[in-house]
Amino acid sequence: TVVLSACAMSSKTTSTTTSPTTPTNPTIEAILADLTLEEKVGQLHLINFEGEPTEEQLEQIRQGKIGSILKSNGAAQNLKLQQVAVEQSRAGIPILFQEDVIHGYKTIAPVPLAEAASWDIPAIQQSAAVAAREASAGGIQLTYAPMVDMSRDPRWGRIIEAAGEDPYLASLVAAARVKGFQESGEPGQNILATVKHFAGYGASLAGRDYNIQDLSERELREVHLPPFKAAVDADVAAVMVAYTAHDGVPLTANRYMVQDVLQGELGFNGLIMTDWATIFNLVRAGTAENLEDATTAAIQNSIHMDMASNQYSELLPKLVREGRVDEQLIDDAVRQVLMLKYKAGLLQDPYGRFDEALEKAELLSDANIAATKEMALKSMVLLKNEQQTLPITNEVKKIAVIGPFAKAQKDLIGWWPGLGEAKDVVSILSGIEAEFGDSVEITYAQGVTIDRFNKAGAELIPEAVKAAEQADMVIMVLGEQEWMSGEGGGLASLHLPGLQEELLRQVAKTDKPIATVIVSGRPYVLTDVAQHSDALLQAWMPGTTGGTAVAEILSGKFNPQAKLPVTFPQHQGQVPIFYSYKKTSHPFVEGITEDRYSTTYRDVPHEPLYPFGFGLSYTNYSYSDVTLNSTTMDLQGSIIASVEVTNTGDVAGREIVQLYLHDKVASVTQPVKLLKDFTILDLAPGESKTAKFTITKDKLAFIGIDYQPTIEAGEFVVFIGANSADVKSAEFSLTN
Ligand code: BGC
Repeated sequence: TVVLSACAMSSKTTSTTTSPTTPTNPTIEAILADLTLEEKVGQLHLINFEGEPTEEQLEQIRQGKIGSILKSNGAAQNLKLQQVAVEQSRAGIPILFQEDVIHGYKTIAPVPLAEAASWDIPAIQQSAAVAAREASAGGIQLTYAPMVDMSRDPRWGRIIEAAGEDPYLASLVAAARVKGFQESGEPGQNILATVKHFAGYGASLAGRDYNIQDLSERELREVHLPPFKAAVDADVAAVMVAYTAHDGVPLTANRYMVQDVLQGELGFNGLIMTDWATIFNLVRAGTAENLEDATTAAIQNSIHMDMASNQYSELLPKLVREGRVDEQLIDDAVRQVLMLKYKAGLLQDPYGRFDEALEKAELLSDANIAATKEMALKSMVLLKNEQQTLPITNEVKKIAVIGPFAKAQKDLIGWWPGLGEAKDVVSILSGIEAEFGDSVEITYAQGVTIDRFNKAGAELIPEAVKAAEQADMVIMVLGEQEWMSGEGGGLASLHLPGLQEELLRQVAKTDKPIATVIVSGRPYVLTDVAQHSDALLQAWMPGTTGGTAVAEILSGKFNPQAKLPVTFPQHQGQVPIFYSYKKTSHPFVEGITEDRYSTTYRDVPHEPLYPFGFGLSYTNYSYSDVTLNSTTMDLQGSIIASVEVTNTGDVAGREIVQLYLHDKVASVTQPVKLLKDFTILDLAPGESKTAKFTITKDKLAFIGIDYQPTIEAGEFVVFIGANSADVKSAEFSLTN
């Protein structure tokens, strides 16, 4: 192959260490010039508190020692604190209120991984905009989202917080979330976004949170950096560094990652903050001898804001006076904080949006609930549907709803609840009761209890079996509790916790049709569950309106359209598993199961249970062969690839058509397929539409041998289909 182009982007060996200049602004310079060293350091200090502030905290605000506060207790309390800062401190600088607004503030949307399953980028942007509207009405100006850490290991609990395994889809989602938070609302309804956790945290070894990440430079660039780049290109205001160490150096002190890659290559010139007390972690991880060295390392690494360790406020004035830290670094960091306050409108109007009446009208408003339900409907993936078990027909007169998650409310909110409360959540059981009304008799049995994974609780199974026997069909509601996913939520077993699989096996013996609904924030190994269910719906942790959305899918009011943003393994030993694996010397060849010398396990099939991009509908689609308008292209040109997609069923549906590419020969091993584009088609029964994709040179680039984006001439395969495993292909060549 011939190298055709190497786009400019510095690599590890050629990068420089100059950080970009902090943007200047006359208002900010005037404020900065007036501050004492202690007041400057106060601006870098982000504290957390719950409940009412203590007198000591209020006194610190009066002394100008607290620049930002994490944890929202509502507009009224934030207003009071703001008044103390503005009216009772010498410099009168407003506080920046921050919060983890991850998938909603009070009206809770599906968890981020679920939203990614919609592949509906405008809807995801809209969902972030709803969260921003509520949070800003609650007196918050900055969120710690989007989280964009790439993970291919569902044992890692934080897989719930991002957009799945694919860098292209994740990048689109990252940019949409940034725009949704920062710019989709009316003036005053937006909040600043923080992309996190820079970078590679999702590679925590073996799915154990905060574990080492040992990433190659290549994997960093191919997989982990793209969504950060997308967020930076979308003008994200802030970046949070990860807890972990990259290449042995904790991110808080990692100059290569922060100064060369983030500020240099990605061109980020906004505020960078620690994650929770990560300055301590430099000592804990043994890369700094003491907290003074750790604090020095952080500020020298352009870390502008210290979340919750108090080390900047306690140590920086002394370190400056002793000449160990240059005051210019403090000034630069303060400029960044003031710039955020300026962007949030606080320097112009410190009391802008701390209005209880507005807050009351906005939180859980009808419009926000409706938008959240729409998102929930679009995010649920139908994984199996045999004998048209779903949607439920009029012939069904009696339904048994069984399982420990049928009545769950808190678990539907999932990790990062914001101010979401269980009492506001529609459970799946009550959603079903409301949807089917009086026409169907609904019975309920819990089946098993889930208590920190213990195996007790089998005594409820006979009652559940009895309920199943007496019904026309069964809806099983299985899953995981809210605390099992999310931060620290590592799992060694990917089987549904407790005796849930056993419960399903017993209920299945009744031979009643079973539709199983899964409430989870991660892919579980659903092999046995699928085997004992006629229909299977991955409902994720669907938020405030989750129960209504599940019921509207079961009844057929809504035709499912979502597709998996992450591979579902058929055995937990397959993990990490993802569709875009690289070609190897002993490749797996589809259809050949007896090959002793291929990169497969001998005891477990090669394929996942459900591949990336997979999802069924209540209708069927047929795909024509792929046609290309030409079989050659050069760097200036493009190729148009198309397929005709037909809705061959009886109901209208929405199909997500996916385009993957493969570079047959390249100087660096290539994925067998890589998602490069997709389009969403609305199709009436019997209708056909053509999905057209334009392939330009940027879609053919890969990270070359020198870590520069590179394009090489040669043969390419275009795959188009309904998911990563069900595709048709055509080939073209790129010439120079
Ligand atoms: C998490 C962050 C979060 C922060 C503040 C940390 O433990 O890693 O994602 O934003 O806490 O709540």
